Amino acid sequence: MGVVYIVMGVSGVGKTTIGKLLATELGVPFFDADDYHPESNKNKMASGIPLQDADRWPWLKLLSQNITEWSNDGAVLACSALKESYREILEAGGDVKFVFLEGSQEDIANRLAARKDHFFDPTLLQSQFDTLEKPKNAIVVNAKNKPEVIVREVMSKENTKSELGLIGLGVMGKSLARNFATKGIKMSLYNRHVAGKEEKVASKFVDQYKELEDSNGYDDLEAFVNSLAIPRKIFIMVNAGPAIDAVIRSLVPHLSEGDVLMDGGNSHYKNTQDRFELLKDKGIHFLGVGVSGGEKGALEGPSIMPGGSKEGYELVGAYLERIAARDKNKDACCTRLGDGGSGHFVKMIHNGIEYAEMQLIAEVYDVLKTNLQLDNSTISNYFKDWNQGALESYLLEISGHILTKKEGDVFLIDVILDKAKQKGTGGWSTTAALEIGTSLDTISQAVMTRIVSGYKEERTRAEEMYTLSRKHTTLLSIETIKKAYKVARIINHCIGMEALRKASQEYNWDLNLSEITRIWTNGCIIRSRFMETLGAILTTSSDSLFLSNDIRIAIQAGLDDLISFQAETLKSGMATPVFSAATNYILAFTRGESSANMIQAQRDYFGAHTYERKDKTGSFHTNWED
Ligand code: NAP
Repeated sequence: MGVVYIVMGVSGVGKTTIGKLLATELGVPFFDADDYHPESNKNKMASGIPLQDADRWPWLKLLSQNITEWSNDGAVLACSALKESYREILEAGGDVKFVFLEGSQEDIANRLAARKDHFFDPTLLQSQFDTLEKPKNAIVVNAKNKPEVIVREVMSKENTKSELGLIGLGVMGKSLARNFATKGIKMSLYNRHVAGKEEKVASKFVDQYKELEDSNGYDDLEAFVNSLAIPRKIFIMVNAGPAIDAVIRSLVPHLSEGDVLMDGGNSHYKNTQDRFELLKDKGIHFLGVGVSGGEKGALEGPSIMPGGSKEGYELVGAYLERIAARDKNKDACCTRLGDGGSGHFVKMIHNGIEYAEMQLIAEVYDVLKTNLQLDNSTISNYFKDWNQGALESYLLEISGHILTKKEGDVFLIDVILDKAKQKGTGGWSTTAALEIGTSLDTISQAVMTRIVSGYKEERTRAEEMYTLSRKHTTLLSIETIKKAYKVARIINHCIGMEALRKASQEYNWDLNLSEITRIWTNGCIIRSRFMETLGAILTTSSDSLFLSNDIRIAIQAGLDDLISFQAETLKSGMATPVFSAATNYILAFTRGESSANMIQAQRDYFGAHTYERKDKTGSFHTNWED
């Protein structure tokens, strides 16, 4: 439903000019109430006979009927509407807002005196002022200003509603809210009220930052929702899981059809799919929006991965694109990925790739420290050096910085406990890969390696129990390690992209993989120079990336180094699990013959699962013990 703005005031005040301009500004049709007067009224006015209320009723009723129709799409009507009783008739027609052009009798008399070819007799002005009852609930503007100024004033007074709402002022919510506001978006912010603990969180936050001076903070959910322009657009940034459902449940009674909810947290894509369906039934658009870049990225420009209906994205896409990071062509690192849970699926795989990328760097660090016995500063210098070229990545960059950070004389890295946490997305990507039948070796291994890191106490005891020589090796050169790292990264990225390709087929998402790598070139944690290379390759490849000639050449160039790295680290008693996963994956993938014939025979032996043959077609079963 639209709004019908009624530009009102005495004759000669400029209703038609302002009304037309306002209609253009709002992109709605313009109507002039004078065109709806019956001939008898027009004749009276032209003859200088003041209209009586009885003359006006049929005219006002006709306008009211038209307002009902105009309310569908919105309109602007120029109409004197001088009395409260007239306005009541007009209001009965639909959603009406009055814009009152207020001017002095003297100014208007001068203006009318200069006007030609109008049926209104200027001598009637006095009777108009006598009749005028100033409206109580109108947008009041000074008719003396230039028309453009008046329209701007109306627009700014009208825009008292916030464009966007955000729920959840934790680490990410605060940064995103500031980012939206910095881009000129008027925000309403809400954080839950917990008596004695979480009180006025949103309004206190708004008071802290200059960029939020036009924004408002709320503790009361209903007031928050009512402060939003329709259709309401609400970004939810609370913890994934039951908190999202709780927020949605409390919001729904206050929402209307056509409103848009976005979940910016790391929700499971299947939950997002369910919420999408649930809200679709209520006519509410729901988008699962992956956000990467951490606290700083959220503030300065994250990579944004939205999934949901096209109609929903059309309503909010421009806002998301405004706060997103920019790629090398200055395009937003944000694009609608597909329907339902696709955005959160893509974010999950992004995080999976991130897990393995982090672990690869950790393994290189371990080998350089333990095998080559290099100190932190030297390792940092290597990382910084590698980061200048094709290996450039955000994660390598921060790892170089991490290694130089000191507390007094102590390197901080040396006192950080070696137990890594894993929550959500990494593990989910592993189970999702199993469900859709895609291999996720490097990513799954990175998750498992974090889990093993958590066995700190057992690991310490086991070290004392087992005799293992962890030898210093001189056989690994820095160049070999660098090349092995480069190839392992390529393999990890290809594995991640392959999971997306399979998921796209499985769920009919029609994911554009090249576009996904484009929005990952900036703002997100796995941004890197290689991501740009990958994007270019993906524009021409729809097959497995491992079968692309460009990828083959890149892997081939360092494959021997990867194998040497693997062999030497194992021989010197070092575990490099994600390097191993990458090595074994590529060795298995590039071999036409595998050992799975034995697996098939075993399965058929104990479970009569049947097998296929190389020399005949069909399914076969053998009585193995005959
Ligand atoms: P956070 O700092 O812990 O903030 C969580 C917010 O959720 C708080 O405002 C909290 O309110 C609110 N909340 C929790 N339970 C609620 C409930 N039942 N009802 C209403 N509000 C509730 O978390 P965060 O780091 O901002 O992360 C938010 C989401 O973004 C998570 O899904 C996370 O995985 C994802 N994410 C985080 C990062 C990151 O780098 N941190 C990056 C990308 C995505 P109170 O203040 O009242 O507790």
